[in-house]
Amino acid sequence: MSTLNIAVLPGDGIGPEITEQAIAVLRRLESQGHFSLNLEDAPVGGAGYRAMGHPLPPETLALAKASDAILFGSVGDFSLDTLPRELRPEQAILGLRKDLELFANLRPAFVLPELVDASTLKAEIVSGMDILIIRELTGDVYFGKPRGIRHLENGDREGFDTMVYNESEIRRIGRVAFEAARKRGRRLCSVDKANVLETTQLWRNVMTELAGDYSDVELSHIYVDNAAMQLLKNPKQFDVMVTGNMFGDILSDEASMLTGSIGMLPSASLDANNKGLYEPIHGSAPDIAGQDKANPLATILSAAMMLRYSFGLESSALAIEQAVSKVLGLGYATADIQRPGAKMVGTQAMGAAVVEALG
Ligand code: NAD
Repeated sequence: MSTLNIAVLPGDGIGPEITEQAIAVLRRLESQGHFSLNLEDAPVGGAGYRAMGHPLPPETLALAKASDAILFGSVGDFSLDTLPRELRPEQAILGLRKDLELFANLRPAFVLPELVDASTLKAEIVSGMDILIIRELTGDVYFGKPRGIRHLENGDREGFDTMVYNESEIRRIGRVAFEAARKRGRRLCSVDKANVLETTQLWRNVMTELAGDYSDVELSHIYVDNAAMQLLKNPKQFDVMVTGNMFGDILSDEASMLTGSIGMLPSASLDANNKGLYEPIHGSAPDIAGQDKANPLATILSAAMMLRYSFGLESSALAIEQAVSKVLGLGYATADIQRPGAKMVGTQAMGAAVVEALG
């Protein structure tokens, strides 16, 4: 039986409560013989700053590097927002992405039948929607140089950034996307602005070249402005979407809001060897921290993604996803996904219900 070496970084706010429930779910699968777990905890974010004076203490980074995958809660602590930027809790996640070279961000956006009314869109538009958005995470205009604000001779000020991608950066995110499409509906839509931007013309060329290696996946291209419209008009037309850092930042948030429930959506950030950091898309929710109100399902589903993408344990991942569907089908709901007739529960009871649904 394989041993999964996982670094557990609970972080701040609701982070410790929700990771505790994800671990309970993993432990149930362990007891059923799916795998054996080697879990090690370390402080991160505000908790890292309070314990060791830095949001990403060297010991935490070393643990993250030594493990096969990272289960991450959330970071963010408003009481530390007056610290210099490099010591603020959110720097931990940026540091981990950079130091571990986590260049591929996978963000599913799906609507489970029980939660179809949580969306702000009409039920018939979102019902059955199941999209995976893959965003390049370490390049593009967010990191390109030169950048800055300069003073012109005429006294005016000018802000400038550089949009840049090289071929190998595009190729490696493209491969992640084609491989992910193979595990799903085999349709990949690449998002660019090739009609205006040279960088994304190269993006389109490289994606088209790569398609030759993946004849079982149907590749299409769409301009980013049209993609933003189509996500609202007919989101069910998409299976996997791949795009650069800035377009992906915006489109993945748009897609997640179609589902209407921030407490449900997981994410993964992967390196070239499928080592990954798995976390819910939401933040540390300080307004409900420590009150047994947080929805743990996004973190539990992040653990399922971990089993699928870092460990290749598809049936274990599916077992978790089916248990979550079953629990929602039974009518359990935390406050954020409350609906008429639902059985309102807290964080711990929701986690326990998923554990029980695993059998
Ligand atoms: P947030 O996502 O923490 O919360 C937004 C709203 O959603 C709040 O009302 C909150 O109660 C609710 N919510 C979030 N997760 C929930 C859950 N699992 N169950 C039920 N309700 C949930 O965003 P925010 O309030 O803007 O930010 C709070 C802190 O989190 C900030 O310090 C921010 O920087 C940080 N943050 C961290 C990450 C991360 O760790 N990757 C991501 C986003 C924000």
